[in-house]
Amino acid sequence: MKYEAVIGLEVHAQLLTDSKIFCSCSTQFGAPPNSHVCPVCLGMPGVLPVLNKQVVNFAMKMALATHCRINPFSVFARKNYFYPDLPKGYQISQYEHPLAEDGWVEIEINGGKKRIGIIRIHMEEDAGKLIHDPYKPVSYVDFNRTGVPLIEIVSKPDIRSPEEAVAYLKKLRSILRYLEICDGNMEEGSFRCDANVSVRPLGSEKFGTRTELKNMNSFKHVQRALAYEIERQISVLEEGDVVVQETRLWDEAKGVTRSMRGKEEAHDYRYFPDPDLVPVEIDSEWIEEIRQTLPELPDEKKERFIKEYQLPPYDAEVLTSSKELAHYFEAVVSACHNPKMASNWVMSELLGRLNQDKRDITECPIAPEALGELIQLITKGTISGKIGKTVFEEMYETGASATEIVKKKGLVQITDEGVLREIAQKIIETHPKEAEQYKAGKEKLLGFFVGQMMKETKGKANPQLANKIFKELLKG
Ligand code: ADP
Ligand code: MG
Ligand code: ZN
Repeated sequence: MKYEAVIGLEVHAQLLTDSKIFCSCSTQFGAPPNSHVCPVCLGMPGVLPVLNKQVVNFAMKMALATHCRINPFSVFARKNYFYPDLPKGYQISQYEHPLAEDGWVEIEINGGKKRIGIIRIHMEEDAGKLIHDPYKPVSYVDFNRTGVPLIEIVSKPDIRSPEEAVAYLKKLRSILRYLEICDGNMEEGSFRCDANVSVRPLGSEKFGTRTELKNMNSFKHVQRALAYEIERQISVLEEGDVVVQETRLWDEAKGVTRSMRGKEEAHDYRYFPDPDLVPVEIDSEWIEEIRQTLPELPDEKKERFIKEYQLPPYDAEVLTSSKELAHYFEAVVSACHNPKMASNWVMSELLGRLNQDKRDITECPIAPEALGELIQLITKGTISGKIGKTVFEEMYETGASATEIVKKKGLVQITDEGVLREIAQKIIETHPKEAEQYKAGKEKLLGFFVGQMMKETKGKANPQLANKIFKELLKG
């Protein structure tokens, strides 16, 4: 029997406000433990939370960017549970009346587009952090993170494979970064994801029983955990057993998911409206005000790149994956006026090289204008594309300009037909056997001769010209 996976993701994104959601403590990451705390975020009795308006502004931006309906009336609720990182004994979240509902984002998958629905986006506060001593049986608690604002984005069960899940997460993260409301750092936990997954016989309408996966802190973990869990559930069904609804933890070192808690122990959070906070009322004026602040978003930029620069959708998708990369690309284009060349050089040479060094575009040692200059040297025929790659490497290493490097190393392309013809003649004389065979019809030997020419000129011969000369000289 063939099976199909059904996946729904719950994403938590930490918002980049300066202060916490219900008090004025700083949200800065990496401060000494328990230095950004006050009676409100420590959950002392009798204190009153006050909502940070910027949190609502940021959450509304995400809601609009993902085509959600913003509710005119939403309510904060207490989600009650005990844990040492939660001093109040409850988390302030939203439950029955979330900020926004019913949106979607588009992903590019197998050369096509697919919409993934969003059930809801709500605001809530983060909990503190437990630090377990690696040597002693002691745990510490750092409350700097309690009260840091989060939005939770819950997808519809529209995702059908680990690849789609990763594409969806990357798109969400890209939108959050374009909006400058979340830094999207998965390792530091400012962008986190829980995955609900089930399998069903292909063609069946009814969803199977799901498990919830936690503890994945990179895209690779999400991909591997889902692939493992889908296989595991299929084997369970194949053996005639049933999948148990439970929460499972991903163990990256062992490459398996393990049961953490079953449904029987599932929490009953006893949600109820927080009596200390008034409902959030949002009128259409406020929504319009926020809509005016939205920048060009990844999908819009992508469409513009396809139209304005005649790029294939795949190139446009990669180049708009971050605002900084898109900006870099456009600066290269204005320097060299050749979008397709700019896209090739940025996507293969530059991103490949940066990737080797685990750097991103903001740490790129070559300025976009400098890369544009290199491309112009190639399009004008001053240097060959092949030499261009050597020059690129040296630019990357030394920061020198393409023109400087070409001058200093004498890399200017040889386009003087007389000079090349002379060299070609010598090559033919020293390879009489190959010349004979070529004339007898073995035409692919042309490549051999051009190769010799490149060797002789250290790659400086103009390849089209070399081709033409050999064809003429070796004609019958
Ligand atoms: P809960 O209240 O337990 O968190 P929800 O109904 O809010 O459950 O759903 C949480 C997530 O689980 C959503 O992303 C949803 O798309 C997903 N989901 C629901 N049912 C299934 C299923 N059978 N298989 C996979 N994912 C599911
Ligand atoms: Mg849930
Ligand atoms: Zn505080």
